[in-house]
This record gives sequence, C-alpha cells and structure tokens, in this order.
Amino acid sequence: MIKIPDKKVTIIGAGMGGSLLAIYLARRNFEVDIYESRDCLENLPVVSHKSINQSLCVRGIRALQEVHLWDEVKRYASRETGRVIHQKDNLLYQAYGERQGFSEWSINRNDLNRTLIAEMKKYPSIRVQYDERCVEVDFENRTIFLEHRETGERRQHAVCLLIGADGIHSTLRKEMERAGLTDARLDVLDWGYKNIYIPAPKDGPLPFRGDAFHLWSKKSAAVFGIPNRAGFFTATITLPLTGPGSFESLTTRESLVAFFRDLCPDLAPYIAAYAGDFLEQPTTPFTSLYTSKWYYRDFCLLIGDSAHAMTIFYGQGINAAFEDCRIFAECLDCYYPDMETVFQMFQERRRPHTDVLAGACLRRFVELRDKYESSFFVARSSVEIALEKHFPNSFHSLYTLVVHTTMSYGSAYQRYTKERRLARLLGMDVLVFFGMIREAVRTMWHALRSQNA
Ligand SMILES: Cc1cc2nc3c(=O)[nH]c(=O)nc-3n(C[C@H](O)[C@H](O)[C@H](O)COP(=O)(O)OP(=O)(O)OC[C@H]3O[C@@H](n4cnc5c(N)ncnc54)[C@H](O)[C@@H]3O)c2cc1C
Repeated sequence: MIKIPDKKVTIIGAGMGGSLLAIYLARRNFEVDIYESRDCLENLPVVSHKSINQSLCVRGIRALQEVHLWDEVKRYASRETGRVIHQKDNLLYQAYGERQGFSEWSINRNDLNRTLIAEMKKYPSIRVQYDERCVEVDFENRTIFLEHRETGERRQHAVCLLIGADGIHSTLRKEMERAGLTDARLDVLDWGYKNIYIPAPKDGPLPFRGDAFHLWSKKSAAVFGIPNRAGFFTATITLPLTGPGSFESLTTRESLVAFFRDLCPDLAPYIAAYAGDFLEQPTTPFTSLYTSKWYYRDFCLLIGDSAHAMTIFYGQGINAAFEDCRIFAECLDCYYPDMETVFQMFQERRRPHTDVLAGACLRRFVELRDKYESSFFVARSSVEIALEKHFPNSFHSLYTLVVHTTMSYGSAYQRYTKERRLARLLGMDVLVFFGMIREAVRTMWHALRSQNA
C-alpha cells in the first residue's frame, strides 16, 4: 500500500527551475521550503544586478503561461524576430520562420529571477531561506544538512520529499553519486565563455537591431549578443581555453581591443570600455552533464541543470528547466501520492529527450567551431533556410523544431532527420552544390574588392 506523503516538499536552489517548481507545487497545495545558498537578489547592490540577457522560447513560455506568469515576465522581455549575422562586409538578417512569425524573447536573467521571487511571495505556503547552502544529504534518515553562508553555522533539517534544483554543480547529485545511487558524467569542452555587460550609451541606443539575436563569428571565435528592452546589451564571448587566439592569450587590454576590432569591428567601440570586466572574469568552460538516474525511491529528484546541463548553443537551459516543471506537474497530477512512480515517469518522459538535446547542442558547437567558414556549411544553411521559407509545412531546420515548437526534443530530432532525408532524395544536395559555387564566387569577389581598395 502506498503511504500518502505529507504535502511537504523541500527544494534546494531558488534559481530558475527551483522557483518555478515551487509555484507549481504551491498551486497544488504543497507546503514548500526552499534553501538557497546565495543572498536574495533583492538585497544585492544595484551594481551586482548586471547579468546576462537570455532567450526564452515557446517551451519556457508555455510553462510560465500555465501558472499565469507569462504576462508579468513579458513586461521585462523584448521580442526577437530573428538573428543578425555580422559578416565582414555584410549584415545578414535571418527571420525565425518568416511565414510562421516565430519569435524568441530576450530577458535579463535577474529580471526573470526577480519576477519569480515576487510571485513566490504571493504564496504563504512557500518559505524561501537565503544564505543556506545544502552541504550533505542523509538518504536513509531523510535529512539534509545546511550551512549558513556568512556564519558557517550548520544545522539539519528533516525532509519529506526533496528536490534538487541546485544547478550544474548540484550537491544533491554529488551526494547521490557518493552514496552509489546514480552515475554522472560531465563532459567539459576545451572551449568556454565570458560575458560582458554593455550599458545603454547616454547619447542614444546602440546601433544594433533591438529585436534580434546578434552573432559575430570566425573560425575559433564567436560572440553572441542579446539586446534588452531597457537598452543594454550583453555579449557572450566564446573561445578555446588555451592556445593561440584563446582566452589564455588575451591577457592585456591591448590584445583584447585588437581581438574585438578583428572579430566584431562594429561592436568593438562599445565593448572595449569593458575590457577590464573581461580580464577580471574567470573563464567558464562549456560543460554537458548526463546523469543515469534522476531520483532515489520516493524521496528525492533532480531537475533542471542538476540533472541535465547542456551547452548554450540552442539557448535551452532555462527553457528545459521550465519544461521540466510543467512535465513534473503533469506526472504529479497523474500519479500522486505514489511519489516513486511520479519520479520514475518524470525521468522516463524527460531523460531520453534531454540527452538528445545535449548531443544536438554539442553538434551545433562543432559546426560553429570547425565548419562555420566552410562554403559547404554556409551553402547548406542557406538552402535549409530557403526550403523552410518556401515549404514551411514540410521542411524545418533543427533549430526551428527545437526552439520554436514544444514537441519533445527526441521527436524534434527524428522529424528533422526524416525531413532532411526526403529533401536530399528530392535534390537538396544539388542546391547545396550550386550554393557552394555562389558562396565561392562571393568570397572571391570580396577578396578582390578589398585588395583593390
Ligand atoms: C552564458 C550562458 C548563456 C545562457 N543562455 C541561455 C539562454 O539564452 N536561454 C536559456 O534557456 N538558457 C540559457 N543558459 C542556461 C541557463 O542559464 C541554465 O540552464 C539555467 O539557469 C538552469 O536553471 P536551474 O534552475 O537548473 O539552475 P540555476 O538557475 O543555476 O539555479 C541553481 C540555484 O541553486 C543554488 N544552489 C546551488 N547549489 C546550492 C546548494 N548546495 N544549496 C542551496 N542552493 C544552491 C544556486 O545559487 C542557484 O540559485 C545560458 C547559460 C549560460 C552560462
């Protein structure tokens, strides 16, 4: 017989997934205790509110809509209708599904986090305790150990159900590994990133489309720029960790300014002033995480990055964490009070798909790293975009299926493979071949022009 658990949940981490999950649970009459290792965002000085802009897509939005939070979040978000590729001599705008009118929404991470905090405050059944870091878990006695960030004081807390939403370096996951309850594999790439925050200039807006994602790229370097409705812009610089042209080699202001002038000449005048921020910041390597088991009996579960972190190349981390919350709630609605089945079904519905997504993110990274300048790659992308534009019901790029639909990541990948196979049978490769010739002529023409200039 299944024992009906008290409707009490403890969540570790009040980041993106943990906060939204608390709201989903409170709406189902659960009492929720959250322990967060950092100070509350609202108590931080304004200067540390600098944080990156991130993209929300239909997956994240759907989860926010289910708890009636999207209208509030949207107040801080700006619509992105496409991407601008900053080529050496050209600005190429690619709409996200011109006919279908797809869009993504850029939002500053702290604004999103603050909106979630404000929403949690509306529920008396959610209690958030900041500065409390979970440091140990006793699985047999259902107890967690917490350490206060400032005083170092340690205390223990008995829990009924435990959810780890504590990000890629999750303590719960490490404790599960230590107790032999799961295996986790972290694939750390030899590339990483740093972020730069560029405030809105006093004398007018930055000269970049505010409704688009921006990309500057060449072999072995890329900058992703995301504008914000408040006028500031954040740039994520991605490079190899070591070797020539790597983070390791950019150690002086001069080398950095020269690097920006070469890679993103139109952004360089604005970014150069923040070279100090870049030089002081540690480099974070890109990491993918695969975890064999996300739960232990009817006691604990991992969600979001703590279970399945992935690299940023489809901009899916928050979206996937929010989708986790929605699907977890569906499992809860079907199988509660049998929590072990809730956890098991959740893992069955999610893990195969987040594994597919992590693989797709890695392949996109490899394309960016190794093939971005190859005429085959450029021609194939252009043909895919053209096919998608002219046959919007029959052909979709993988990006569209992953980012602009809510079909499971696995189904998105299968559908893409099937449609692409069909397109190749119907002669897509011939179009790519002509595209390569066109690209080669274009490159030669620009080389000749710049020689003569
Ligand atoms: C440069 C960059 C750009 C990105 N861009 C996008 C994007 O455009 N779109 C997108 O969807 N995703 C993006 N992501 C990914 C996204 O930020 C993450 O996937 C997402 O934040 C994961 O949410 P989470 O709730 O699982 O973890 P987090 O948001 O990391 O939250 C974890 C929380 O747990 C707390 N915590 C950690 N350990 C403990 C502990 N032991 N005890 C108590 N609390 C603890 C942390 O302080 C934190 O508040 C990007 C990531 C990076 C690095």
